[in-house]
Amino acid sequence: MNTTDFIKTPVNEIYGINSFSDAVMRERLPKSIYKELKLVQNGSNRLSSEVAEVVANAMKDWALEKGATHYTHWFQPLTGLTAEKHDSFISPTEDGRVIMEFSGKELIQGEPDASSFPNGGLRATFEARGYTAWDTASPAFLKEDNSGGVTLCIPTAFISYTGEALDLKVPLLRSMEAINKQSLRVLKILGMDVNRVVTSVGPEQEYFLVDKEFYDKRPDLMLTGRTVIGSKPSKGQEMDDHYFGAIKARASAFMSELNLELWKLGIASKTQHNEVAPNQFEIAPIFDTCNVATDRNQLLMETLKKIAARHDLVALLHEKPFAGVNGSGKHNNWSISTDTGINLLEPGDNPIKNAHFILFLVAIIKAVDKYAPLLRMSAANAGNDHRLGANEAPPAIISIFLGDQLNQILESLSGGKKYKNGDVETIELGVSTLPKLPKDLTDRNRTSPFAFTGNKFEFRMVPSSISIANANTILNTAVADVLAEFADKLETAPNPEEKLKEIVADTYTKHKRVIYNGNNYSEEWVKEAESRGLTNITNTVDAINEIAKDYSVELFERHNVLSKQELESRCEIDLEAYSKQINIEASIMIELTKKQVFPAAGEYITQLSNTISGLKDSGINNSPAYKKMLETVSKNANLLYENILTLETLLSEALSINSGALDQAVAYRKNVFTQMANVRIASDTLETLIPCEMWPIPTYLDLLFRL
Ligand code: ADP
Ligand code: MG
Repeated sequence: MNTTDFIKTPVNEIYGINSFSDAVMRERLPKSIYKELKLVQNGSNRLSSEVAEVVANAMKDWALEKGATHYTHWFQPLTGLTAEKHDSFISPTEDGRVIMEFSGKELIQGEPDASSFPNGGLRATFEARGYTAWDTASPAFLKEDNSGGVTLCIPTAFISYTGEALDLKVPLLRSMEAINKQSLRVLKILGMDVNRVVTSVGPEQEYFLVDKEFYDKRPDLMLTGRTVIGSKPSKGQEMDDHYFGAIKARASAFMSELNLELWKLGIASKTQHNEVAPNQFEIAPIFDTCNVATDRNQLLMETLKKIAARHDLVALLHEKPFAGVNGSGKHNNWSISTDTGINLLEPGDNPIKNAHFILFLVAIIKAVDKYAPLLRMSAANAGNDHRLGANEAPPAIISIFLGDQLNQILESLSGGKKYKNGDVETIELGVSTLPKLPKDLTDRNRTSPFAFTGNKFEFRMVPSSISIANANTILNTAVADVLAEFADKLETAPNPEEKLKEIVADTYTKHKRVIYNGNNYSEEWVKEAESRGLTNITNTVDAINEIAKDYSVELFERHNVLSKQELESRCEIDLEAYSKQINIEASIMIELTKKQVFPAAGEYITQLSNTISGLKDSGINNSPAYKKMLETVSKNANLLYENILTLETLLSEALSINSGALDQAVAYRKNVFTQMANVRIASDTLETLIPCEMWPIPTYLDLLFRL
């Protein structure tokens, strides 16, 4: 079937056809096996080899019917990408034929030779091989390549033989376990009969589309995902005419196919619209359980790229592909709910059931305040350094937006001014009522990094290009930590109800400094935040360095999410990744400016000199315009050259540092990254002077407006 056939097919007929979903399992597995698998998925049982065998067989039959020849354990190593190693199902028989095989053992565990994945020293200390383990709660899916090949992908976690996490998934799953455990303790005291608590996530993904032909002529975009030079076009986003505007035909055709592909995978892509910058778009699927949402966001990013290529487009996921227009991020919508279907962040209007909302709310406030540097860390990468605090994204300061109504309620509960709303005068936990908060009342602040939006929190700092795993691991663990503290107090209190009120009042009073309902983009906020004692970690290197600090080690070890060794290895890997990224960016900048911009400037200088001597030959000795132009161009060419030389020196200095990953990353940030700005200014100035036809690479006009 091609795309046009698909468009004619009702969506419900193609939805999920490439997903080994719950519905498929229910249909294909014997009842008893299906039931057992459900118990494994919700954590009550361990996976037996018998169940694995039956599931593997059903999965194989399903995949073969759909044309699959290979399977792969699909995992997320610390490179931030997804990795896969394909094995075929074939097994030769003695009489020269093949049968297709896939055992329970092969489903549960794979052994990719993963020694070349980054491990920050972990693998050296332990075994030389890692293995992957099936994440039973995230549906297997089929991936179709452009030539029609089909591969069964099994979402997995990646661990060392001694059990150390080598990927982003293991800590995420452990953090989900932690928040489940601590939430259940708290809910039990509140008399709520639930068996499991999960966090749900809906990530909104921003991206740019550019024409492949232009992209191929921009080595900086190809190698780093962003333009390291390029002067702003006369028209940028200042007219605000792109946001929610009509989607261009070419982008629209791309999106139709993208949606179909996502729907086939069972990814409920729901909304799509133009974003603020020209050629920038957003896509948001309906939320899923945390680990599933994380897998699906990875898959969505992969699919974005794959489908764009079919339309001779390139999807840019980088946080800041273009200077001077907005960059891209990911809004991580996060909530906590029970297996009985209650969203614990839903204020609701049922009086008796409000205590849990208030308690979880203050737990989150405390968690965000106490572990703000770690949340900041989860949003740190080289790309996001261009955005945070640059008036297009939240500042690097973590704060919470609650909205006036919730603020007043919490004030009132902590002994402040009584809350007045209609006939509700006093709020008593568990006996009075909370108003249902209409979404439009809570969703007005677009500048907050962590905003309450009706029945969920929206963490808006997450970088567009990376996995959401880290952000959610930290959120889950931080909140679990505060809930554990609450549970300890409540479990031993003679009067839990009184204790609960005390906890709410105390926690709010101590941590309300993190609440800010004003404009986060303003200068005043930076000053105000400082006076409140909030941290402002302005760059990636400092942020990464937080995870290996004592308080972080204590937090993650307390909840069995990550060990000291695992954290130290992650810290090192991330610092190295930062240094490598800046190294590539600086190198490509040197190459581009030296080999393309500098010769173009020379060509123009020659042309101007020729013009001046031509005029002289015709008897016109006074040509101030051309002389002035010649002077300006050569002055800027010299400036560019000097700055390139300085950048080269700083780059080789940074490269030769061997006193540790932190020292090196600091040198890249302080020296190399800073100097890149000077090279850029000189090059971008030349771009405004040199005639268009002489400019060697596609311009911002091509990249941002021609689609
Ligand atoms: P916005 O107004 O920011 O565009 P939407 O209301 O469209 O936000 O939702 C954005 C994302 O939040 C979607 O992925 C949506 O599925 C998700 N979402 C909605 N409710 C919840 C919830 N309770 N928990 C987690 N995510 C949710
Ligand atoms: Mg949003």
